[in-house]
Amino acid sequence: MTNQFKYAAIECDNVSKHYISERALDHLDINIKTGERLLVIGPNGSGKSTLINVIGGLIRPTKGIIRIHGVDIHKSSPEHRKTIGILTHRPFLYEDFTGRENLTFFGKLFNVPNVSYRIEEIADLFTIGHLLDRRVSLLSHGNRKRLGMARTIIHDPNVILLDEPDSGLDAHSLDELGQTLGQTLQSKTIVLTSHNVDWALPLVTDVLQLSTRQEALKTSIREYHSLHELRKS
Ligand code: ADP
Ligand code: MG
Repeated sequence: MTNQFKYAAIECDNVSKHYISERALDHLDINIKTGERLLVIGPNGSGKSTLINVIGGLIRPTKGIIRIHGVDIHKSSPEHRKTIGILTHRPFLYEDFTGRENLTFFGKLFNVPNVSYRIEEIADLFTIGHLLDRRVSLLSHGNRKRLGMARTIIHDPNVILLDEPDSGLDAHSLDELGQTLGQTLQSKTIVLTSHNVDWALPLVTDVLQLSTRQEALKTSIREYHSLHELRKS
């Protein structure tokens, strides 16, 4: 059995992240299975972005361990980190490069075989073919976001972390992103945050609700809907 299936895709083991004056996450224990798609919701300041950044290895937790396919992310090799694709609030693109130059750069960084073919493939996925030869600084917010998504998955990661991938997208782009996440990336393990719960719920298998008091409740999508029915009645 490969590590991908033997272990949870993502395991947060007693994870806390305290900033100097704020607690963002406190003693969080969650397991995310391979193929699970988890929506993280909660009010502003409840720790959604912190969680994405900690799981992705961009920031260190104050306490606890994050394991990706059984390996401690903060002790893992660059090779192991290639299993992760992360999109934060910033699309992480070079403004003075074109989309194609950006994707080629990141593709080579990750040793993607046949990068030019892969770029065409993901350009189709996010309908950004017509943007590829434009300089990023000239693109709209929504188009940067789409290019940022393409950058995030250029190396075909198994674990995809997306912090508000839907923010600033128009209805048509939201629809397209929904199809990509729900269909094309169906076999991947995905953690995403979104304020647009109605858009995101049909795309996921599980929901993690965070509160500003660092409480966390993880439920399956079915349990989430039942809880909501109960609260309404
Ligand atoms: P969310 O994404 O749910 O809005 P965040 O993870 O951005 O929440 O923030 C959680 C808490 O941590 C907030 O109280 C926020 O002010 C604080 N916080 C986030 N990033 C930092 C930082 N770099 N330095 C200090 N405090 C931070
Ligand atoms: Mg946030």
